[in-house]
Amino acid sequence: MPSKNQIHVGGVPIGGGADVAVQTMTKTETADIEATLAQIKRVAEAGADLVRCAVPREKDAEALKTLVRESPIPIIADIHFNHTLALKAFDAGAHCIRINPGNIGGPEKVAEVVAKAKELGRPMRIGVNSGSLPGHLRELEYTNPVEALVTAATEFVELMERLDYTNFKVSMKSTSVPNTIASNRMLAERIPYPLHLGVTEAGTKWSGSLKSAVGLGTLLADGIGDTIRISLSTFQAEEEVKVAWEILKALRLRRRGPELIACPTCGRLQFDMDTVVAEVEKRLEAYEDSIQVSVLGCAVNGIGEARHADFGITGAKDMGMIYAKGVGIRKVATPQLVDALFEEIDKYYAAGKTVVRDEAAAAEAARWLAENEDETAMTPERLAAMEAAEAEKEAAAELESAQQNGDGQTSAVQLDESVSPVAGRRFTRAG
Ligand code: SF4
Repeated sequence: MPSKNQIHVGGVPIGGGADVAVQTMTKTETADIEATLAQIKRVAEAGADLVRCAVPREKDAEALKTLVRESPIPIIADIHFNHTLALKAFDAGAHCIRINPGNIGGPEKVAEVVAKAKELGRPMRIGVNSGSLPGHLRELEYTNPVEALVTAATEFVELMERLDYTNFKVSMKSTSVPNTIASNRMLAERIPYPLHLGVTEAGTKWSGSLKSAVGLGTLLADGIGDTIRISLSTFQAEEEVKVAWEILKALRLRRRGPELIACPTCGRLQFDMDTVVAEVEKRLEAYEDSIQVSVLGCAVNGIGEARHADFGITGAKDMGMIYAKGVGIRKVATPQLVDALFEEIDKYYAAGKTVVRDEAAAAEAARWLAENEDETAMTPERLAAMEAAEAEKEAAAELESAQQNGDGQTSAVQLDESVSPVAGRRFTRAG
């Protein structure tokens, strides 16, 4: 269930029905202000709503002063073991502090950090990790890791509540996707606070993205989760942001930038679709609007998909078609297909989001499509039409046979396969 409470990290609302916020973490040394700021700007450009920076040393806490001032998005300071760094990070202006109450030095130290957060009116994240559970839960961790995570989280929540502090969100991260799903489902039933989701140490860009998509996607589809972070083994933090956005876009939870629909290709493909899709994907990165663009290898699904997309191309061996809002507008030689597609998209924006249609070109394209349709391709429409024609023919043959026999009985009918490629498979009946 969605979280009831809402908090604000900088100006970003988290929970209580707000959009799911995208987070990432800088991979630079936080004290290297130039490199960290450059990375923060890149992740903000890629769509991060929030960014977290590791603060393991005094000089990292010090660097936060400049980073907070210059950053285009709110900064969360990530603190382990040393509660004085948390106090310093708050003083440096961090919009939020992430601590793991299990390793910060006991309830008194947590209380000091909470007192500072209350004084400044700032939020915190209570972050529980499967790798750093409190000592008294270690045994439970072996027998029931999900219960161990949830117990740790609820104990910290109770500590915060005893300190009369509710301006926080909670995360429970595990390297196990099933445990991430089960523990967050359980915790969402028990507490009203916003939940930050992530599969910790998920792995490389490939495997980590898939694990995160399965784990976080399952929870988000259930309505659980208010912020997400994709943990990938890459120094390019913006890659994490891109994956987070793909998950949110796939679930239609948020819209950002164009959506590319591309067919998986098959034996009907007659052009270099790999190159075309990669080129279209790259060039779409320059657009911020959430248009849908479909790139389909042939007419089987191409025309149908193009009908739903804002723009579409259906490729063929030498010539392809460009569609806009479901209508074919231009035929183009395959090597120029991508350039022509983007010409049409740019014209659309230049005209205030109106399709600019050249009627002569559209008519020529329609004529070409009619003339060049692959007559042997078994499109669903063509199969249906052939089945109907065969059924009609069969009925007529039976009627004629009955009339010739004069006894009202039907005789054996053998359809000629050469008439229709589907006849032999679907309609032949032995006598
Ligand atoms: S659109 Fe055409 S080429 Fe692409 S997978 Fe479908 S049938 Fe194959």
